[in-house]
Amino acid sequence: MKGLMQDWPLVVPTIIDHARDAHGAREIVTRGIEGPIRRYTIADLHSRARRAAKGLTALGVKLGDRVATLAWNTDRHLEMWYGVMGIGAICHTVNPRLFPEQIAYIINHAEDDYIFTDTTFLPILEAIQDQLTTIKKFFVLTDAQNMPDAKLRNVVCYEDWIGQYDDDFQWADFDESTAAGLCYTSGTTGNPKGVLYSHRSNVIHTLLANSASAFGLTSLDSVLPVVPMFHANAWGLTFAVPSSGAKLVLPGMKMDGESLYELLEGEQVTVTAAVPTLWLALLEYLENNDKTLSSLKSVVIGGSACPQIMIEKFEQNYGVAVHHAWGMTETSPIGTVYKATPETEALEPGGRMKYKLKQGRAPYGVEMKIIDDKGTELPHDGVAFGHLMVRGATVAKGYFKGEGGKILDDEGWFDTGDVSTIDPLGFMQITDRSKDVIKSGGEWISTIDIENLTIAHPDVVEAAVIGREHPKWNERPLLIVVPKDGSAPTREEILAFLDGKIAKWWMPNDVVFIDEIPHTATGKIQKMTLREIFKDYQFPD
Ligand code: AMP
Repeated sequence: MKGLMQDWPLVVPTIIDHARDAHGAREIVTRGIEGPIRRYTIADLHSRARRAAKGLTALGVKLGDRVATLAWNTDRHLEMWYGVMGIGAICHTVNPRLFPEQIAYIINHAEDDYIFTDTTFLPILEAIQDQLTTIKKFFVLTDAQNMPDAKLRNVVCYEDWIGQYDDDFQWADFDESTAAGLCYTSGTTGNPKGVLYSHRSNVIHTLLANSASAFGLTSLDSVLPVVPMFHANAWGLTFAVPSSGAKLVLPGMKMDGESLYELLEGEQVTVTAAVPTLWLALLEYLENNDKTLSSLKSVVIGGSACPQIMIEKFEQNYGVAVHHAWGMTETSPIGTVYKATPETEALEPGGRMKYKLKQGRAPYGVEMKIIDDKGTELPHDGVAFGHLMVRGATVAKGYFKGEGGKILDDEGWFDTGDVSTIDPLGFMQITDRSKDVIKSGGEWISTIDIENLTIAHPDVVEAAVIGREHPKWNERPLLIVVPKDGSAPTREEILAFLDGKIAKWWMPNDVVFIDEIPHTATGKIQKMTLREIFKDYQFPD
């Protein structure tokens, strides 16, 4: 027997319609690419998204067509993405940090018809326009006054274009399984692969993100997603914030400590989110300028492991709670978030820190398990570590155009490529990417643990551990360190700092110093490049 409840479609336009009806006056604040801060309301966003949708329809964009954005987090970018999704077309958010050849590859692979971009990215597009075989027009997200002389064929000024249309427009009617967004993962090997979100998965992710087990936003919040919209939908925040009625603050292209501080204080931000490297810059700015944070309550940190020193500084020096989170483009992206439980609350601060360093627990909607190389499920004892597998309505079941073949096992589990533990309370802790794990004498060494501990050394900016061949143990850890400007820590000092904090057999066999560690387009350490740089390296012993 079937239930007798309505088949209300879970589609993205319901998010922005609800936002207008329930929270129409709430502000959306943007640091414009042109410089000044702009503000308008959710009602304005709704109206302008409809005008964009009407303009796209006039261009001939229809259900299933792909429209690209190559843009920072701004109001105009947001209007476009709701406009595109509102007509059942697919918003392809392109990551400008990819190499130009990769950008050309994914735009062609997606067969994008139009691209909407910020003035900042014109040089990239000018250089690759001849390789872009499907793009019919380039729209620059600015007004006539700031429109540069772009050397692009068929270039259009966004404000001139949207200015031709009114908002007398109805969203298109389509099924909730319709594709809504496309985001390519910056895999370290091979070409990037497209994750194709559906309206249904985006709406469910929004409910999940707004649950108290994840971000738990309300209309009393003011939220600054520093994480870009081209990185897994700004971790879902550009859906979750309007749906919750919180104020939305968009940083544009300025993500240095001073600019972020200005927005955090000026807009009385309560919740913000980004990868650890960005918070390093903010904390440095706060320390050097003797600043305090008057409104910020919590910061979501993910994308890479959050070091202990960062949690301590936010909590102890600024009274800001850190919510360490894990996810991936393929998981929309929320997988786990740190939220206190009665058991962690009962602990002393030191004991609690152990849990805060883990990547958190799965909110309702995400299933997790760990398995060994043979596929046998491992215990959730916080000790055994294995391949992290996830399942849920917001997890990918295949890549765009079937790239990468079958990506789920027979029971529908997706292999994240991460290695982790899960403890009896359900806290998951990433120990490595499976391809970065160091196998020493048949045992696995967690590189992330060693890196995090090393970063706590006062003379260290960044650290990476890679495995190098060893005649006896097969592989041993090599610790690569970027020293702070003006300091010159020695190998012995670093090793002494780690001594006693990790198992003896995890101790790196050597420490080397370099000026810079290479990063991927989503800010992760490029261990493959490091392995290449140190391919001829041999341990002194
Ligand atoms: P992306 O799809 O670019 O967001 O990358 C996803 C990958 O980032 C995951 O599979 C993890 O390897 C890594 N990652 C994300 N969050 C964390 C975290 N909190 N700690 C460690 N690694 C993380």
